[in-house]
Amino acid sequence: MTGRITIVGLGPGDPRWLTPAASEALASATDLVGYGPYVGRVPEQPGQRRHVSDNRVELDRARFALDLAANGARVAVVSGGDPGVFAMAAAVFEALETGDPAWRGLDIHVEPGITAMLAAAARVGAPLGGDFCAMSLSDNLKPWEVVEKRLRAAVEADFVVALYNPISSARPWQLGAALTIVAETRGPDTPVILARAVGRPDERIRILALGEVEASLADMSTMVIIGASTTRRIVKGDGDTPYVYTPRSYGVRA
Ligand code: SAH
Repeated sequence: MTGRITIVGLGPGDPRWLTPAASEALASATDLVGYGPYVGRVPEQPGQRRHVSDNRVELDRARFALDLAANGARVAVVSGGDPGVFAMAAAVFEALETGDPAWRGLDIHVEPGITAMLAAAARVGAPLGGDFCAMSLSDNLKPWEVVEKRLRAAVEADFVVALYNPISSARPWQLGAALTIVAETRGPDTPVILARAVGRPDERIRILALGEVEASLADMSTMVIIGASTTRRIVKGDGDTPYVYTPRSYGVRA
């Protein structure tokens, strides 16, 4: 088979966070496939076809992309952030595993991007400096009991926890439930970072204490990072946003 498929990470928003390798993959594609707002972030190119879909049908989109490639196209499937983090790369491989065996002869690549968690962390300091874990709070594709169990275990193990997909109009209560679980173990002063639309014009970063976080402060463009027991703030000046970091060494004392 001559077709090719590259699953490309566009980064969180700022075009300067797109890697040169990702730019090359986009520029050399005959066809772009992806959720509308992500395809919209790629500069138009004469002769390049754009196939825009909504955000709910990842597997259908993956099959469509594999089929295009099987017919000889050079396809770039675009994802926000990194395509391997709660995004299209896993959908493409799931479609590959369950689909037409001939698709396995295609040239398939994943082009990494900066995931939202890393961009959000960089804005405030180094909250992911110690051990951390990342979870999606979405229960569209997995049962809520699994989310609860993992979250309890992560908090119990004292990981910093980065939450993707914290809330949406279709999933209004999950973040509140998650915060309640976290507050059973972590103190009310634990730093929580709400990083919205990082790298986009409407970016907003807030650092709050766990005790004052409300689910309504987040939306579907928000990344929530909950500190471990060792995560701390460094105060700058009055009214300035503090730095937040998690020391690597357990020997460090405030
Ligand atoms: N593949 C993406 C994540 C997709 S899941 C990545 O690697 O970043 C979608 C979730 O990612 C959103 O609900 C939000 O929690 C987070 N997210 C994506 N882009 C973001 C951004 N620019 N700022 C903050 N959070 C973002």
